[in-house]
Amino acid sequence: MNVIGKVTVLPQLPPSIARLSELAYNLYWSWTPHAQMLYQDLDPVIWERFQRNPVRTLLEVSQARLDALAADSGYLARYKAVMADFDAYMGKKATWASRNAAGMAPVAYFSMEYGFHESLPIYSGGLGVLAGDHCKSASDLGLPFTAVGMLFHQGYFRQLFDRDGWQNEAYDEMDLTTLPITPARTASGQEARVAVRIAGRDVSVRVWNLNIGRIRVLLLDTNVPENSEEDRKLTARLYGGNQDLRVQQYVLLGVAGIRALRALDIPASVYHMNEGHAALLGLERVREYVEAGLDFRTALETVASSTLFTTHTPVAAGNDAFTYDLMDRYIGEWPGRLATSRDELYGLARHDQNWDGQTVPAFSMTVFALRMSRAANGVSELHGEVSRDMWKFLYPGAEAEEVPIGHVTNGAHNLTFTSQAMRDLLSTVLPKDWTERLEDEKMWTAVEKLTDQQLSGVQLDMKCEMITFIRARMREQMLRNGASAADVAATDTLMSENALTIGFARRFATYKRATLLFRDRERLSRIVNDPERPVQFVFAGKAHPADNPGKAFIQEIYKMSQEPEFRGKIVILENYDMNVARHLVQGVDIWLNNPRRPLEASGTSGMKASFNGSPNFSVLDGWWREGYDSTNGWPIGEEREYADLNVQDDADAYSLYHTLESEIVPRYYGHATGDASWAHSVRRAIQTVSPRFSMQRQVIDYVQQYYLPIGERGQQVAADDSARARAIAGWKTWVRQQWPHTHLTAHADLPATCNPGQTAPVVAQVNPAGIGLDELRVEAVLNRGGHLTRVPLKNQGDGTFSADVPLKESGLYSVGVRMIPEIGGLSNELEVGLIKWATAR
Ligand SMILES: *Cc1c(COP(=O)(O)O)cnc(C)c1O
Repeated sequence: MNVIGKVTVLPQLPPSIARLSELAYNLYWSWTPHAQMLYQDLDPVIWERFQRNPVRTLLEVSQARLDALAADSGYLARYKAVMADFDAYMGKKATWASRNAAGMAPVAYFSMEYGFHESLPIYSGGLGVLAGDHCKSASDLGLPFTAVGMLFHQGYFRQLFDRDGWQNEAYDEMDLTTLPITPARTASGQEARVAVRIAGRDVSVRVWNLNIGRIRVLLLDTNVPENSEEDRKLTARLYGGNQDLRVQQYVLLGVAGIRALRALDIPASVYHMNEGHAALLGLERVREYVEAGLDFRTALETVASSTLFTTHTPVAAGNDAFTYDLMDRYIGEWPGRLATSRDELYGLARHDQNWDGQTVPAFSMTVFALRMSRAANGVSELHGEVSRDMWKFLYPGAEAEEVPIGHVTNGAHNLTFTSQAMRDLLSTVLPKDWTERLEDEKMWTAVEKLTDQQLSGVQLDMKCEMITFIRARMREQMLRNGASAADVAATDTLMSENALTIGFARRFATYKRATLLFRDRERLSRIVNDPERPVQFVFAGKAHPADNPGKAFIQEIYKMSQEPEFRGKIVILENYDMNVARHLVQGVDIWLNNPRRPLEASGTSGMKASFNGSPNFSVLDGWWREGYDSTNGWPIGEEREYADLNVQDDADAYSLYHTLESEIVPRYYGHATGDASWAHSVRRAIQTVSPRFSMQRQVIDYVQQYYLPIGERGQQVAADDSARARAIAGWKTWVRQQWPHTHLTAHADLPATCNPGQTAPVVAQVNPAGIGLDELRVEAVLNRGGHLTRVPLKNQGDGTFSADVPLKESGLYSVGVRMIPEIGGLSNELEVGLIKWATAR
């Protein structure tokens, strides 16, 4: 058909079920299976065909069906119950925030991607799901919180395997009328539009409103008639296109994102940048202050003091960095706009790169984010450590452990990923309000009361459901690829509910080593084909469209799954999304993760599996290094570094097989009771992981470690027309200018050996070059086995500083003396980034 126009004729909701529409536009339903059932029951076929999308289902369902259900007493009773729960949730006054963070400053959270539900495909993987979960828990906790993101109207991509198992990508243009979004409206009722100048063009941006329980997400969209064809495509695809497109998207997210908040009068005092993509929001915030009369550096201090940056990338190459030329094209006008120079602005982002054998200055989004914030964190304890080491070059003279990057270990939104059956079971032993205190570790000990039979019953049901799902998906794929009738029929017998089932699903980034399992094929075959104790595997995951090595991994697994010894026992599913993720984390017995340590910043899918009672089996990297307690799952490999990747892969693969053969399989199939039983591992997984790795715990950590203190400090720095910011900025400028002229020498009277508890006199001589002596922290630094102790030296007048430094414990000490400029009111003492070590005198 040659389409000349489109129109949607809306079915009329009968009054008794009128609020189905309202509920469809609040993603509260995405973590509430009972709410989803209301739409599924309208028409199960439509529901499945359109990614379980309530808005779409309401558009497609027949009027007759609506009228019938509106008169069905069973349906009406469930409708009323869901609406009552929804109203109670939305209207709740006594939230966690009201009790623990009353008066907290409102947070604006910026992320390039969000994974809320499969029907809104604006995410690629863990980063997006994490951001989506963060919003859901912000709502659960009752935080003053608004999120900003992008509406990619072709999403990420739909993954299709061809007959040879090669990944192809399909891009579907979304019909926005079928999404749970509405145009955001200004106070005067106008549809919000903001404009951003990019490369000399005025790009118009439409703002959509998405409700996630009690909080809102603003989604930016350039696909509007007033834009050129090219600009309309700026928000077409997530992580598509070249570097030019990337930078333009970053300008949109940061700059248009701030303008959208302003256009809608949404209060925001703390700004949280989820990954470096969001860093350019600092440009627009500085511009606002400069326009209001502040100088650039004062504006920068004001902005940074109220900004938090979360980094997620533990490999240098994974951090976006662009040539200055490229940046000139898209932010070339900004130095002028901010009343500063290109050198100064780009200098805040500078990270020299070795490109084609040449060292070139580059604009790093991560460096810029670190400089535009006064608080930063990684996403697990180990990742915090890795990040401090990776970015320590920004703090010359500092040791890695001092670099001001902390960590908040990730979590996952329990209710989004826990099956209804497991929720129902948990409700029988947990207190009535358990979904509101998920982070409460003590509460979860009640899981001990669940019997082995109760747990295995629910788990078997979930596994059967997953297998049915896998069979249907594989059948669809076979039919599309023109498989033989025999092969299509064989999908009916794929997988067995009686076999130990292991899941592996995530993005196919090569560091995640999806093919590690196949390193010793014969050994794997023995494990899989053990007639008494069979093991089966299900894989899923997308490779980035430009990642051919990742696609080759997918193909390798696909080909393995077609080998006679693995057929029907190892499967790889297409199009990993949140729907597939839910089925797998709920249906498998074990969750497998074997990234190359320490490259998995956190990982989250293992948490989701544990919520459902599937113990985690993983490399001791990211969250599992903190989560594993010897009863709640199994480790792979050792906690160490390897110089040779091949050796590491071998060692980890060996460990994987060995643990599987000697511990996991015997336990699963064994008949032990008590601590040696399978049910014990299941209970331990649920009870230890659910609270500690709940998104609720994560967001509470953010509130306590960052949102509250940053809100306070940001306010102090901005008070009185940024008086404090002005003082700090002026002082930093002066100190930086004088620093090269300062001078520090020191002398320590150290015997060759001494006994513990003795002291050593240390004397330093400072030439402060005009900097106040009270603005210098002069200190002795003792390094004993990599552990630093700092002892302040006292100002004795005349630029002499000294102290008797205690040598408390036995061991080999290295002693140094250094000075750091400091005044009150800084966020941390390395903020200025100046450290001078003394030469020996
Ligand atoms: C949770 C999740 C991820 C993240 O998986 P990791 O194990 O953290 O890599 C990726 N994709 C989807 C769809 C998810 O639900």
